[in-house]
Amino acid sequence: MKIEKSEKLFAQSKQVIPGGVNSPVRAFQAVGRTPLFIKSAAGSHITDVDGNTYIDYVCSWGPGILGHAHPQVIEAVQRACADGLTFGAPTEKEYILAEMIREAMPSMDKVRLVNSGTEATMSAIRTARGYTGRDDIIKFKGNYHGHSDGLLVKAGSAALTTSVPDSGGVPAAYTQNTLVALYNNEDSVRELMEKYGDQVAAIIVEPVAANMGVVLPKPGFLQFLREITQEYGSVLIFDEVITGFRLGFGGAQEMFGIKPDMTTLGKIIGGGMPLAAYGGKREIMDKVSPTGPVYQAGTLSGNPIATTAGIETLKILKAHPEYYTQIAQSAEKIAAAFRDWADKKHKKLQVNQIGSLLCAFHTDMPVVDYDSATSSDTKAYAEYFWYMLEKGIYTAPAQYEAMFVSAAHTKQDIEETCKIILERQ
Ligand SMILES: *Cc1c(COP(=O)(O)O)cnc(C)c1O
Repeated sequence: MKIEKSEKLFAQSKQVIPGGVNSPVRAFQAVGRTPLFIKSAAGSHITDVDGNTYIDYVCSWGPGILGHAHPQVIEAVQRACADGLTFGAPTEKEYILAEMIREAMPSMDKVRLVNSGTEATMSAIRTARGYTGRDDIIKFKGNYHGHSDGLLVKAGSAALTTSVPDSGGVPAAYTQNTLVALYNNEDSVRELMEKYGDQVAAIIVEPVAANMGVVLPKPGFLQFLREITQEYGSVLIFDEVITGFRLGFGGAQEMFGIKPDMTTLGKIIGGGMPLAAYGGKREIMDKVSPTGPVYQAGTLSGNPIATTAGIETLKILKAHPEYYTQIAQSAEKIAAAFRDWADKKHKKLQVNQIGSLLCAFHTDMPVVDYDSATSSDTKAYAEYFWYMLEKGIYTAPAQYEAMFVSAAHTKQDIEETCKIILERQ
């Protein structure tokens, strides 16, 4: 595999862009070599600047549920571009997309469109605080909700009740209202609620955790969160930036039959363009400016090109419910191949899979939370990653990310992938 052009571009980019990348995971630091610079992509395949082509299981970290450059999406976007790129005034497309989201997720009476998942979660939390008049929030260790100050926390060493910034540049004061509980651990939540429940504006959770690898909620865990938030009058926020329109057209809330008070969306709903959303119950969302006192705005929010890509993507998904069965079956096959390989070669491997999301953790401990996830041998992951890449398969360049299967992955793509997994020594 020749990657001279990527190497040259990486060296040049590092001179003008921190780390050479515009989002840290792209730098391949976790696998310790030069990242591939991508030239183009179509369907299930991605091509780098040196002309190497790979079967892609990153899928832009989630948006690419239809694969790359779906002709119907591209054509609609091209047509929309000719009418102007942005107006800073309302358009019919914003209404259409909001209506489509509301139809898919009936827990969302009203929806506000923003530009990134980070903005969606930040705004949802501000709204929950404005609605409840409370300051504290609870998040879960290992759940990721974007990079706003108050959410970049790790649990303090003494107890779960103190949190410290997990990033430079975040004043300690900005995270003191963020309480950290343990994913899949009801006691850790109950303990915090018993102590601080009447100050807790919201509990925010990834209903299926997909940013510490893929970790499924234990049976009853989401229902427990629904009940305890109701008991204390706190807002339950499902961060469905990854799971929305991926685990099914109605997201994780439909799959698990839980109605959160608020939901955040991103990734798929922009169809590859920068677009995200937050929404929820009418009485909560009516607190948002200009109807209410909670300020939130955006020059490019609801951008006509991004909404076009989102609408077309959702239209296709809605017209093809069979895609969800297909991508889940594909992911099951890949998961089975990983397990077979581990059995035959006596390797430590735990494979978590749900719908089209999966992750093979290099550990012998069942992965149910942050601590078990981080028991993974990340060096073993890096070896796996480079093996796959050499064989023409592009997977996440870090252990704690999901493998995304798209509707564009053909039967042959999946068979080829399984064969390569099984052939590994
Ligand atoms: C990706 C992600 C975000 C952040 O979205 P950006 O668009 O990258 O800001 C938030 N929450 C979850 C669950 C995500 O996976």
